[in-house]
Amino acid sequence: MKLNTENFLYEGKSKIIYNSEDNRNYVIKFKDTATALNGEKSETLSGKGRINLEISNIIYNYLEKNGIKSHFIRQIDDTSILVKKADIIMVEVIVRNYAAGGFSKKYNIPEGNELLNTVFEFCLKSDSLGDPMINASQITAINIATRDEINKMIYLANNINDLLIKLFQDAGIKLIDFKLEFGRHGNEIILCDEISPDSCRLWDLNTNEKLDKDRFRRDMGDVLEKYKIVLERLKNGQQQ
Ligand code: 5GP
Repeated sequence: MKLNTENFLYEGKSKIIYNSEDNRNYVIKFKDTATALNGEKSETLSGKGRINLEISNIIYNYLEKNGIKSHFIRQIDDTSILVKKADIIMVEVIVRNYAAGGFSKKYNIPEGNELLNTVFEFCLKSDSLGDPMINASQITAINIATRDEINKMIYLANNINDLLIKLFQDAGIKLIDFKLEFGRHGNEIILCDEISPDSCRLWDLNTNEKLDKDRFRRDMGDVLEKYKIVLERLKNGQQQ
């Protein structure tokens, strides 16, 4: 599969999107760039693209086996995958099992406190606005998605959360929170984008050590070393 200027579509902070050669699908290339603070902080972490692709593929295969439909078709090489051409719904769906990050800051709840129920939040996908939080009536009011699509996204996010909690628990990891994206494909809403330590908070089940992008955001060091631990544990968990 040739990836060149002819089929180039879009370059994001951590991915490049191309049209596939037959124009029927997209190719996503995972970059080695790590960014935080809406792109203000950026660094190249050599090998991150490959590690995140592998982690995301393990997760997508597991979700697919458990009935979650996604954009994923197949891996092309170490850093790129072939995906269905979905029409991305311009909201991020955040799922939280424990307080952390933005939630802890906003509501002054200590990080790591277990939440009494799963929290679902929507943020508008807009770099220029800094991905502001948006509620269901605002989403429908400005025609980002219909009420039916919102309900479907929450339903899918809840199922995905149940499945991921188990997958990570079997790998000795606590799923604190994560971000999902969905797209329209035919009559369906399908899961899109990556699921990796860039988009999830993952803590060691026993020590609460952070194994995710907070290590980069908070200058804790050993970012890729911890991503590799997540990958190895998921691989081992799968073999059991
Ligand atoms: P928070 O709202 O606490 O900053 O983030 C909640 C969860 O969603 C975290 O796991 C974080 O990594 C993920 N998340 C939120 N916004 C984004 C985003 O724009 N990109 C990625 N990759 N993950 C995000």
